[in-house]
Formats: sequence, structure tokens, C-alpha cells
Amino acid sequence: MKLVHSQIPVEFLQALPEGMKLVNRHGHEFLVVESVFSRSGTPLVTESVRIHGEPSIRIGIRVGDRNGLIFVDAFWGSHSKLWGFLPDAGDGDQTVDAYVHDTGESLMIDRTCDVEGCSCTRGIELVLPGGENTIQVCARLGCPGHRIVLADMAKPVADSVSGINFFGAGSVEDDWFDAFA
Ligand SMILES: [Zn+2]
Repeated sequence: MKLVHSQIPVEFLQALPEGMKLVNRHGHEFLVVESVFSRSGTPLVTESVRIHGEPSIRIGIRVGDRNGLIFVDAFWGSHSKLWGFLPDAGDGDQTVDAYVHDTGESLMIDRTCDVEGCSCTRGIELVLPGGENTIQVCARLGCPGHRIVLADMAKPVADSVSGINFFGAGSVEDDWFDAFA
């Protein structure tokens, strides 16, 4: 798999939304989710599990008849996850149900995925500080669909950021960043 580093639009960097930060690895700047909440305000970023050296996003997930905790890589466009349980492989085309692990509050919203070939109409919503900006993630297992929805930023800039994917980041191996060295 090929690892691609994407440029972050300068308009976005100049008005970096609260809850997002930039980190530098091997001379490249990466966008990292620093702080997100459920709709009712429960913090979801935890120091207890770090992925790629940064705190991860801790959420509960239900897949089929199994459920448990997962930790999601906070690097924007990475899709690495640490699973606290073994999901049933099933038919490989399942929609997950996400919730706040400690309270059961649903993180699900209606959202039509814009990834080609995906027609999922459910998404996971993570709320940035202030409550107006959100991150939306496709609920279909394995779909890379994700989007940042910003109240105060031109849509083309947000679209461009939403399009950033670090392809190949499918594991949490320590040598992940060596590809940029
Ligand atoms: Zn999708």
C-alpha cells in the first residue's frame, strides 16, 4: 500500500478550528483531533491510550450482536483503530452503531456518505469545542468516509480538508511514520 501525505490547505491552517491541532512528524505536518465531545458534552479524547504518540478517541461500538470499546487514531485521515473486542467479520459490509462508552449516549446521525460506491445513510458525529463544528464519520465498517463540518469556514476549504486520507495507515505499527522519513 502506498502512503500519501496530503497538503493541508493554508486557509484552514490560518483558522484552525478549536479542537484540532498540528503535529510534526519527520518534517511533515499532520492534522490531529485534540478535543471532541458527544452532543451532550462528554469528552471522548483519552490520554489512557495513545496511538502514534497522541491521545486517542475512545468510543463504544456495536457491530451486529457484539459491542465493546474501541480507540480511534486521532490523526486526521488515518483509520487506525484499536479494538477492545473482536467484531464478527460477518459479510464485511456492516454498519456500526457508536455510543459514549460510559453512558450509552448515541453518537449516531443521519448522514449520506459521499464516498464512491458507499450508500450508507448513517454516520458518527463527534462535536468540536463550542458545539458548532463537527466531524462526521461514515458508519459502514471499513469505509474511509469522513468530513469536517465547519460553521465559519468556506465549504471548499472544509471539503479539501475532508478529502485528506493517509492511505495505507491501516495499522498502528511504530514504523508508520518512517514512510515519511
Ligand atoms: Zn461510507
